[in-house]
Amino acid sequence: MYIENILADVHEAVTPLIGQGTVADYIPGLASVNPNQFGMAVAMNNGAVYGVGDWRVPFSTQSITKVFALVLELARDGEKIWQRVGREPSGSGFHSMAELEKSKGIPRNPFVNSGALVVTDALLSVTDGDPDAVLNFLRAENSDPDIHVDEDVAASEALHGDRNAAIAHLLASYGNLVHPVQDVLTAYFRQCAIAMDCRDLAAAGAFLARAGLRSDGSRMLTASQNKRVNSVMLTSGMYDAAGDFAFQVGLPGKSGVGGGILAVVPGRCTVCVWSPGLNASGNSLVGVRALDEFTTRTGWSVF
Ligand code: GLU
Repeated sequence: MYIENILADVHEAVTPLIGQGTVADYIPGLASVNPNQFGMAVAMNNGAVYGVGDWRVPFSTQSITKVFALVLELARDGEKIWQRVGREPSGSGFHSMAELEKSKGIPRNPFVNSGALVVTDALLSVTDGDPDAVLNFLRAENSDPDIHVDEDVAASEALHGDRNAAIAHLLASYGNLVHPVQDVLTAYFRQCAIAMDCRDLAAAGAFLARAGLRSDGSRMLTASQNKRVNSVMLTSGMYDAAGDFAFQVGLPGKSGVGGGILAVVPGRCTVCVWSPGLNASGNSLVGVRALDEFTTRTGWSVF
């Protein structure tokens, strides 16, 4: 099976759909993106990376970075984070506060905003307050200093960040933040605003398909921690459509409102797909379809 051919076939299959969906418009930096873009990259466990379309065009990674924040926290702090964040799908919106009130400040999982804010807070503790821990990791994994925080997007996130600020204050009121709310929000918004391309994202997440091992053989996570990250991606990585995504695609995945999705085929490869138009669940419309085509053509799925 030649991955280049599979990617070309997937590209052809989704071409009629490119441009469909709604580009996230809650901040100008996302609203102005050209919707007629599609890129896809596959990072194989042997180190080869293949791509098609706009796979080298940087985009706003947004909530995909929640995976890397969780990974860095687990790698440095062991299992402690699970005392502060749960592992259940939320069943309500990614920035819902209702659940948080009921659970007395323990977020449902690390991929809803409340959970990501707690992870960000924990990561600040183990990095001496570095707001760019995720950025530095992603740069180092790819030896690519061009991976950057889009400062306009970060500033807009902050300007339109009332709900995230409210969530952070609620967390703090329950004693589930250690750092000042403003420091946690700044780090969180910077993390969401990281811009990079499909190639680099797929390559940076490659350890997720290798039971926690990086391409140079060094260990990022224990096999058990790695399994857990993939499990939470499967159950909670696609907003309120994790069930549909498991049904259609059959892989752990994490999406962001920038239109990217990082998916993992354990034991084989990671796949990153990007197309800015979102479906009603907030996941990339073309991205989900492309991953559906990819797993159908390769037969690669966790099921
Ligand atoms: N920066 C976004 C927010 O917190 C992340 C959205 C997302 O990709 O889920 O609103």
